[in-house]
Amino acid sequence: MKGANKMRKVLSIILCLVLLMGMVVFAHAEQRFTPGTYTGIGYGHNGRMEVEVTFSEDAITDINIVSHNETAGIGEVAIEQLPGIIIDNQSLGVDAISSATDASHGILQAVEDAVTQAGGDVEALKAVEVKKVDNSASFTTMDADICVIGGGVSGSIAAIQASDLGAKVVLLEKAASTGVRGGAFFCADSHLAREAGFEPVDMEVFFKAYMEDTSWRADGTLVRDWLEMSKDTVDFLEEHGCQLYKTLETYSGGHSYPGGLGMTQYETAERTEIEQIADALKSIEANGGAVYCDTCATALLQDENGVVVGVRAVHPDGSIVQVNAKSVIIATGGYNADFEWISKSYNGVMPTANFGLASNLGDGIIMARGLGAAEVGEQAVMLRMPRLVGDFNAYNDFDSGDGRVKLGKRFQYAVPLLPMTLWVNSTGERICDEEEVCYNRNYTGNIVMSQGGYVYVLMSEKMLKTLGEEGAGALNMTQPQGMGYINNYTLLEQGWGDVMMVADGLVEQGVAYKGNTIEELAEAAGMKPEILAATLKTYNEACAAGEDTSFFKKPEFLIGMEEGPYYLFTENVCVLTSLGGIHVSRYMEVQSMDSEARTYNEIPGLYACGTCTGGLYGDHYANAEGVAHSYAITSGRTAACYAVNNALGTNYNHLELASQ
Ligand SMILES: Cc1cc2nc3c(=O)[nH]c(=O)nc-3n(C[C@H](O)[C@H](O)[C@H](O)COP(=O)(O)OP(=O)(O)OC[C@H]3O[C@@H](n4cnc5c(N)ncnc54)[C@H](O)[C@@H]3O)c2cc1C
Repeated sequence: MKGANKMRKVLSIILCLVLLMGMVVFAHAEQRFTPGTYTGIGYGHNGRMEVEVTFSEDAITDINIVSHNETAGIGEVAIEQLPGIIIDNQSLGVDAISSATDASHGILQAVEDAVTQAGGDVEALKAVEVKKVDNSASFTTMDADICVIGGGVSGSIAAIQASDLGAKVVLLEKAASTGVRGGAFFCADSHLAREAGFEPVDMEVFFKAYMEDTSWRADGTLVRDWLEMSKDTVDFLEEHGCQLYKTLETYSGGHSYPGGLGMTQYETAERTEIEQIADALKSIEANGGAVYCDTCATALLQDENGVVVGVRAVHPDGSIVQVNAKSVIIATGGYNADFEWISKSYNGVMPTANFGLASNLGDGIIMARGLGAAEVGEQAVMLRMPRLVGDFNAYNDFDSGDGRVKLGKRFQYAVPLLPMTLWVNSTGERICDEEEVCYNRNYTGNIVMSQGGYVYVLMSEKMLKTLGEEGAGALNMTQPQGMGYINNYTLLEQGWGDVMMVADGLVEQGVAYKGNTIEELAEAAGMKPEILAATLKTYNEACAAGEDTSFFKKPEFLIGMEEGPYYLFTENVCVLTSLGGIHVSRYMEVQSMDSEARTYNEIPGLYACGTCTGGLYGDHYANAEGVAHSYAITSGRTAACYAVNNALGTNYNHLELASQ
């Protein structure tokens, strides 16, 4: 009896707890809005987003993205999917769409803004749990000749090439869409280059310069094959419906090997490069192939002889799919989203932002490692896109100069590209020839990381005002700086607009510093005044003499800063992609290492391509632009060639693919 009472007591406590929890959930879920439609503002990957949100008295009933600048094929996935998830769950606690985190955050920010306007409780809506469908008991299998893991450029090209050679291909992509990062790629020759008056690359000169740059740490066979195959890239892509053009303005600083060429880019007027490759990928359906997005490969399957025979993958709802395949190609890209892994190449210094995919966590490298694959080249990282630290969104409502780039973006990305500024480290010491490092973005990344992750750009108010009123040309810059669209940022002949508003705003945010004197500036930035003052004195003397005996900067960029006020802006660098990983043979076969016999041996049935593989670089990205994208394409084609030979018993040769 005593026991029964005790049990009843426990049950009633549990019941109370359940009810209480229910009340908490109910309290979270219950919302009161002032009905109507409100316009919320958020900031996605490419700036401002306007979102109309309609409310009834107690629910969000409609979300309409009225304007945005998000990239087709990437940010647009969030625009298609997120409003429905928010409405279905009446929650702002939804996860970002994996391939479109910035756009997702922009939408959520705008909806939060609208909720506030409608008198709703943002925090309560964030706490509402999103219903998760659990299908973990579901297990399906499918058969293919080739399973490609990863739908970036290398995986997409591998799938297209393998299908062209007769294989049935299943491509698994972890993110919500397939995608291509970076539209510009190197070609050693192309009809477009010739039509634009360029001679083909001088292979001997270029190859030797490339290998010297890597101190022969790069695998010469991979480099040589990549160069050779790159000549066919334009034709291959055009045959698959891509529209390309030759970029003539490529390396404004001229940092390519002798004998090098400019790059080719996808024509963006009608379709982005992402849409073009996604369209080309549809061709795999002709051989019974298919693309599955939101499908994360989690394991490679081996038979009893160690031959790779398939892939196990999982959908977000927990359901499992197994692809039985005769060959598997890993094309999962780098591990740029794993900062701890990246930091191993920089003595523990972490980059401050990931400019690549959030889904690039090195899954393919880890899965291959599990099968004993060797790794190589993980010291090389594409650490580019230097930028100022701060929240620039508020300034992206303002036009700047030519109207092509908003004020906030221009300031954030172009100030680090100005050769007439003065760069110091956290103690206030000058650290480099500012022109040399900002014209070569490999150097920029390295110097920022060598200083612990941040450098500081010193400018006088006078210099800033000149920039705002007249443009960078008035500060002796004669060439726009940066690759691709960044080329538009360092506007020369027109003033950039109200840059002082941005500069002072950053000071208010606590991410930039201001002082009427150099000593005051140092105090504000937590630097030793005597060191920063000595740095500026030496620099000003060099400017007056027209000779930089410290770091040898060109005289035209030695512009003295005799008068305050002064500003210091904090600069960091984003990681675009890692460049090392799985050890592959010339034929893109994944290899393990026999350290006793000192040989590399193939893991049968397993291939890899693109930035999840190592071997193309030394300890840094090549001093030529567009190499990573170019290699992603050529290595994808090579992996496909030998994966098809393995699966179908054919005898194709990667260097002869052009004639197939
Ligand atoms: C913003 C930006 C601009 C760039 N610009 C250039 C440029 O102009 N020129 C140039 O040469 N290089 C550029 N790069 C470098 C670029 O990353 C490479 O050129 C190229 O995109 C690498 O292609 P990839 O297919 O190897 O990898 P990725 O493009 O990273 O593709 C890998 C794919 O695998 C998926 N994946 C990961 N894990 C799994 C899993 N477990 N299961 C299923 N799928 C998975 C990922 O979601 C991703 O879609 C740029 C990079 C960035 C980030």
